[in-house]
Amino acid sequence: MKKKALLALLTAGAVALSLAACSSGGSGSGSSTDGAQAGDGSLIGVAMPTRSSERWIADGDNIKSQLEAAGYTVDLEYAEDDIPTQVSQIENMITKGAKALIIASIDGTTLTNTLQNAKDNDIPVIAYDRLIRDSDNVDYYATFDNYKVGVEQATSLLTGLGVLDASGNKTGNTGPFNIELFAGSPDDNNATFFFNGAMDTLKPFISDGTLKVKSGQTDFNTVATLRWDPATAQARMENILTSTYSDGSKVNGVLSPYDGLSRGIISALTSAGYTTADMPIITGQDAELDSVKAIEAGEQYSTIYKDTRELAKVAVQMATSLLTGGTPETNDTKTYDNGKKVVPSYLLQPVVVTKDDIQSVLVDGGYYTEDQIKG
Ligand code: BGC
Repeated sequence: MKKKALLALLTAGAVALSLAACSSGGSGSGSSTDGAQAGDGSLIGVAMPTRSSERWIADGDNIKSQLEAAGYTVDLEYAEDDIPTQVSQIENMITKGAKALIIASIDGTTLTNTLQNAKDNDIPVIAYDRLIRDSDNVDYYATFDNYKVGVEQATSLLTGLGVLDASGNKTGNTGPFNIELFAGSPDDNNATFFFNGAMDTLKPFISDGTLKVKSGQTDFNTVATLRWDPATAQARMENILTSTYSDGSKVNGVLSPYDGLSRGIISALTSAGYTTADMPIITGQDAELDSVKAIEAGEQYSTIYKDTRELAKVAVQMATSLLTGGTPETNDTKTYDNGKKVVPSYLLQPVVVTKDDIQSVLVDGGYYTEDQIKG
């Protein structure tokens, strides 16, 4: 586990280095975007979905500070998960004369008209973390390998249950284990990537009887959680506990795609009498501080760490490159078909974090201090 995390960190480091090389005119970029001269104060619009989850606050802050350091002015807006609000925020950015847009969408299918307006004004658009669908006017996509996020979540569920060992080999433990499945918001393109990656990994173990989804709820639409809402996940977990586990049987594992949902799921389990001693193996995503504390306390098993500083760097690099006549660096030109075009993408690598990795990955990596985690 540790080795894998370190390897992934090294890869992330290499990415950072290669991006740094690009920003000083290295291969792949064709631009010179160093320092404060690049921006000349021109405006870049940054649209984020919500402040209700820590990660988006960190993303917004990181993008803003990096753009400002490069000499740009930034209009950073949060739409609190309200689609019309996000649409009007982006329209306002266009009206104010933004030279580029970086957008983490709420519903990836609702921006078609707005992006046509951006196109009519020659404003390039970068989809940030979430793919914007059904529009020709998405120029680049900065994200993580979202399918791999799902694979890693499922793999850590199997490792936590003891079905796989730390190297990913079968231990011979065939359970059977009762598990339940949760997916993200159906209007977020990432949610299906996470779920498909996870299910491709879990299915063989469901087929051979090692894992049993005792509620029988396995299809994406049934297990999806609109707007990634923790309360919705909590209510669904409560219903499952009542409908399926009143016979005294126990939930052994929960596939959860996001830390906020995991916290809702843990609340439901705690109300039903589960304690850290018999808490199921629960996954997550984003390494949010409260969830890292829950991992430290033994309530949650794992999370997926996605360094928002690195993702911001990729998006900022794409924007500055476009605005200075360069071609942004990409490493995937096949995977992300938005229904109108395959959007050229730069994928960063996600990193699994369990209790064993908190220090080496999150603290040593400077994402959190030890005091924050212990506090
Ligand atoms: C992001 C995840 C996040 C989720 C909920 C997804 O689009 O990729 O990192 O957990 O949204 O905010």
